[in-house]
Amino acid sequence: MRYAEIAVDAPAGPDRTFSYSIPEDLELRPGHLVKVPFGPRSILGVVTSLSTTAQVAETRDVYDVAFAEPVLDGPRLKLATWISRYYMCSPFEAISPMLPQGGRVRGNTLLTLTDRALETALTPFQEKVVSYLRSRPKANQEQLIRSMGEGARSAVSALERQGVLVRKAGSLEPGVKAKVRQVTAIASDARECVKQWLGDPSNRAHRQKELAQALLDAQSPVDIASLRKEFGAGAVKSLMSRGWLSQEAVPIDRDPLEGRTFPPTRPVTLTPQQAAIASEVRSSLDDASAPPDIYLLQGVTGSGKTEIYLDAVQHCLASGKRAIVLVPEIALTYQTIERFASRFPGQVAVLHSGLTSGERFDQWWKLRNAGYGVVVGSRGAVFAPQPDLGLVIIDEEHEWTYKQRDAVPRYHTREVAAELCRLTGATLILGSASPDISSYHRGRRNTYKLRLLTDRIASNGTDEGRPVGNTAVPSVIPLASVQIVDMRSELRAGQRDIFSRALSDAMTECLNAQQQMMLLINRRGSSAYLQCRNCGFSVRCRGCDVPMTYHKQAQRLICHYCGTRRIPPDKCPQCLGYRLSFYGVGTEAVAERLKSRYPGVEVLRWDRDTATTPRAHEEILTRFRSGKARILVGTQMIAKGLHFPSVTLVGVVSADVGLSIPDYRAGERVFQLLCQVAGRAGRGDQEGKVIIQTYQPDNYAIKAAASQDYQGFYDKEMAFRRDHSHPPYSRLIQLMNSGTNRAKVEGEAVRMADTLRSMQEEWGLSDTDVLGPTPGWPARLRGRYRWHIILRGPDPRSLLDKATVPRGWSVDIDPVSLT
Ligand code: ADP
Ligand code: ZN
Repeated sequence: MRYAEIAVDAPAGPDRTFSYSIPEDLELRPGHLVKVPFGPRSILGVVTSLSTTAQVAETRDVYDVAFAEPVLDGPRLKLATWISRYYMCSPFEAISPMLPQGGRVRGNTLLTLTDRALETALTPFQEKVVSYLRSRPKANQEQLIRSMGEGARSAVSALERQGVLVRKAGSLEPGVKAKVRQVTAIASDARECVKQWLGDPSNRAHRQKELAQALLDAQSPVDIASLRKEFGAGAVKSLMSRGWLSQEAVPIDRDPLEGRTFPPTRPVTLTPQQAAIASEVRSSLDDASAPPDIYLLQGVTGSGKTEIYLDAVQHCLASGKRAIVLVPEIALTYQTIERFASRFPGQVAVLHSGLTSGERFDQWWKLRNAGYGVVVGSRGAVFAPQPDLGLVIIDEEHEWTYKQRDAVPRYHTREVAAELCRLTGATLILGSASPDISSYHRGRRNTYKLRLLTDRIASNGTDEGRPVGNTAVPSVIPLASVQIVDMRSELRAGQRDIFSRALSDAMTECLNAQQQMMLLINRRGSSAYLQCRNCGFSVRCRGCDVPMTYHKQAQRLICHYCGTRRIPPDKCPQCLGYRLSFYGVGTEAVAERLKSRYPGVEVLRWDRDTATTPRAHEEILTRFRSGKARILVGTQMIAKGLHFPSVTLVGVVSADVGLSIPDYRAGERVFQLLCQVAGRAGRGDQEGKVIIQTYQPDNYAIKAAASQDYQGFYDKEMAFRRDHSHPPYSRLIQLMNSGTNRAKVEGEAVRMADTLRSMQEEWGLSDTDVLGPTPGWPARLRGRYRWHIILRGPDPRSLLDKATVPRGWSVDIDPVSLT
């Protein structure tokens, strides 16, 4: 094998690799991360295959490997190929989420001036480039272009031709490395000598003697830093200089769970319904020959889905295989990690964006070297290098965080996991109380094995209701009762408060009974927007086309899209009148209202303003769990996966906000949120109550959520989707163009849509619709205008395969929303 096909970190079409020759002294295998020359630069690439022939007559040599061991195994290389084709990105982009932390280093190009600069005639722009480089001798080409614009690129080439500067490839060292500590011991050939020295009565170097004795007594090498602290740096140095000490670097494992202890738990006895599903999953795990199964486990919150996951993982580990467990967002699902860590002590890795890069690096390598039986993580953990994969679990599979939207590859975790399982033979379990409509549709058509858990298990109220080694048969509790309050009739009755009479009464009753409640309000901050009562002007973000929200504590208007803050104006910028007022309420205002209404009752607020770090999340939840705080006010975070047995009342202050978003999945989103939040009430022995306030009491999503009627919602939603040819009755591709020049973005979008339409005609692809172009929602984001085009049809890819997507456009296959 003299040649390697390499996916390089440079723009390239799906499947495009480049041929390189392999130098004699380099042993390459598929999956190696390597450094290669590419044009004037050196960049990273991954070996996809080895061959005796090359695609081209002249090849360049691979420089070196970035890591001694391959970073991708066979199935992952195939997975990358699939991602590259399906999501239409370059092979390296498809590989990039599978690389160890810090592994993707952009090769930069170093620029050095020669002494020819003075004697060469330069254009004024070239002069500027030269003086930029003179003042920043370490600058690289990428920095120069960022600061002086694209024009600098050709200027650099011209200057290079004239011999005024030299281009050189910068380093490609990984951004993160293994951490080591230095340890020392008495060298074995020095032991006798040291003993003699210690026995010499004229020897008065007390510290050194103490140190030498300690090292002689030690069973294993000792940390040098701690020796310096204990015996003084001088003593250590003296013994070193005598050549008596051997020194060695040992790697330190940065473990995110270090120092945390999890009380071990034993399996519960499954109910007959749970046991039937668990045993079916076990036989799927045992059956290596058949194509792997995908289960869709539908069960209300508290029905024991997690117990089935735990059972499956246990069986998987017992048969010598390993598992990946995915949760929507780590900070909100800490309880899930705890349950896995308690059941499988020492075998659980965690992988998510909240870790330090060092922790991620170490977890990655330890996983790769078969160091963990289970990895629990958010979306990106589907790419964890877990060997011998037997099982993948996606909890809360309907959550939108499973789709990567802002970066390439714009993958959906569910689809990637399904492909990974197909390639490795692993079993896939998707779990949810209210599955994604498309997933449920696949369940109904037996693409997925749809299995139901209908009973909610009463937990016995101990620590998070987790029974330790409970073997008693659990009792089944009913779902909370749900009441819809029509806010229009409240208004008609002259009731203008944000709390309806029904919710008010229920809150008082709950507090009198010494119980806890949660209130959901979909907006943080204190009021929704600042509007002029004279002319109707509302203060909007300059960069994004949305109203800004007032935050009372910060005394600022804040844009929830880009985070821009500004001091609220005291007069209207449009009519110069002084009649600006605040409208709508957010979490901050609701919490304040409650504090003044119920003096002495502790109210906690949980949203992205109060919980900025994973620790802060935990603190708020621990405080609420302790029972000291009686009311928890929060955004949709409170709907996710929490289990508080003493919460008996859940209030949804306004259910409508999400319904007005211009997206075909708005109804599904509202339904899921309401279902989840309703599942929070009455998880202990007391019965729960849920009150939903809305101005649209007849909306089918709200009605179905109130009766926890998934099937009813599914039927109505599918009828709506069929009528409008929305997925799953079609597939979608979203093309998005964005930029700072409004007319240019729009013009390009119009042109692109025209091109696509004429191609559609030319190829006779009449079942593919080209919709748009239309402005995005919001139409401007962080100062960039956005326009998009939607391709819709049974196979919209067939049209896109014939077109070339110009630079500046992003392609989103199967977008989760059209906003
Ligand atoms: P889900 O994941 O569907 O929300 P969980 O697995 O968290 O449900 O179950 C809810 C609670 O009921 C947990 O505390 C769990 O330990 C307990 N539980 C579930 N099944 C059983 C069982 N068969 N025996 C005892 N306790 C159970
Ligand atoms: Zn903004």
